[in-house]
Amino acid sequence: MPEIVHTFDELAEVVRRNYRNPDLDLLRRAHDLAASAHEGEKRLTGHAFITHPLAVAYKLAEMGLSLNVVAAGLLHDVIEDTGIELDDLRAQFGDDVASLVDSVTKLKKVQYQGVERYVENMRKMFLAMASDVRVVFIKFADRLHNLQTLYAQPEHKQQRIAREVMDIYAPIAGRLGMGEMKGELEDLSFAYLQPKEYERVRRIMETRVREKGAYVSRMIERTEKLLAEAGAVEAQVHGRVKRLFSLYRKLTKYGNDLSKVYDVIAVRIIVGDVEQCYGMLGILHQAWKPLPGRIKDYIAQPKPNGYQSLHTTVFGDDGEIVEFQIRTREMHELAEYGLAAHWRYKEAGMKPTENLLWMEELAAIQKELAGKEGFLEQLESLKIDVFKDRIFVFTPKGDVIDLPDGATPVDFAFAIHSEIGNKMSQVKINERLANMDTVLHSGDIIEVVTDRNRKGPNPDWLKFARTRHAREKIKDATKHTVKGWLSDMLRGKGAEAR
Ligand code: MN
Repeated sequence: MPEIVHTFDELAEVVRRNYRNPDLDLLRRAHDLAASAHEGEKRLTGHAFITHPLAVAYKLAEMGLSLNVVAAGLLHDVIEDTGIELDDLRAQFGDDVASLVDSVTKLKKVQYQGVERYVENMRKMFLAMASDVRVVFIKFADRLHNLQTLYAQPEHKQQRIAREVMDIYAPIAGRLGMGEMKGELEDLSFAYLQPKEYERVRRIMETRVREKGAYVSRMIERTEKLLAEAGAVEAQVHGRVKRLFSLYRKLTKYGNDLSKVYDVIAVRIIVGDVEQCYGMLGILHQAWKPLPGRIKDYIAQPKPNGYQSLHTTVFGDDGEIVEFQIRTREMHELAEYGLAAHWRYKEAGMKPTENLLWMEELAAIQKELAGKEGFLEQLESLKIDVFKDRIFVFTPKGDVIDLPDGATPVDFAFAIHSEIGNKMSQVKINERLANMDTVLHSGDIIEVVTDRNRKGPNPDWLKFARTRHAREKIKDATKHTVKGWLSDMLRGKGAEAR
């Protein structure tokens, strides 16, 4: 993949495009300091080192993150690699930029050392995120550029970095709803981790685009006409091609039967508001017959990461099957940039994503501030803690479970699976046996010991279960136990048989 090398002027240009009255002087100063600090350093690609922080800053500016974050992107490698001290940064760029750079530098010390350190790494990422989620955005942009220039690294390093991205970074990007970032990270590391499969899927895609491209273009034209007739002048229609790793995953799921994957190429319609989304769906269904069971309303029922859109698959002209995805501009930006998109909204009135527990917090802060003067500035100075009142704990395998502050092992067990909760007999926190009412902390590793002979949860757990989910499950299960006990009694087995 050819590397695109950005200059400072190009960075300034994207900033001017994406920001109102940007403080370009701040960026210029950050750039000049980084350039002189990294003077003479070269990357393995042969380019001057400054091309790397420039690429990172460019990505952050494309995502529309605040200028302090972009400046920190420019400076993210100076503490570790050059003689610059944190105090110098603080004096020149202020506390916020300095502390962002400091956090990124600390996070860098986390190195992937195989599966056994996986939990450790996940934990550090999430803790960093919990203190300031913007640090993770910088880390993503850093990693993305490292992947884009991975070809210059020795093979063992390629494998290590690609594996780390696939196992840690991509899933976290997904969790934050950053579809674009996740897709880019996955496709880039896929090419190194499974080169043969990557090539196979790439060819499938190439053939598909060749065969169906012209047809989809005609469908797009027809759709545009339908839109014009309906007076939806603001709507935009695009073709979208599935990401390679995502196609690979789907093909694997369907036993490599390409005919079962309807969205290799899809048509995406971006409209003004939710009402128009449903209106558009009606217009499409009038023109083309929908495939039964393929209409998905992710607006009424968003995916767990907050994704919202209407999907439908129709028999297009000549009976060809085409998937349509309909969404508003906000939904689109959220699907592409996820949490980062929240920073892009300058105006009030955006509907925050529902069903996304840890995003609700941010939404609440937004709502609170939306009406006030200097909304963005306040958002900045708040040093938003998106994960306030949430904790992140881990399964022994390193899966992350987020729970409300004050949650106990009982909440954890039911968050994993109700059977785990029902059969829980003991719990270990960080490898030590603990009481069921122990309050969990971010970073704890929880191991639930189950007893398959156990009949159900202890009703006493209701006294300290924090989540509604756990409480309902306990109530349910206890009800069943009483019922079971009653029916046992009626069948003459008696209570003591239990
Ligand atoms: Mn870097």
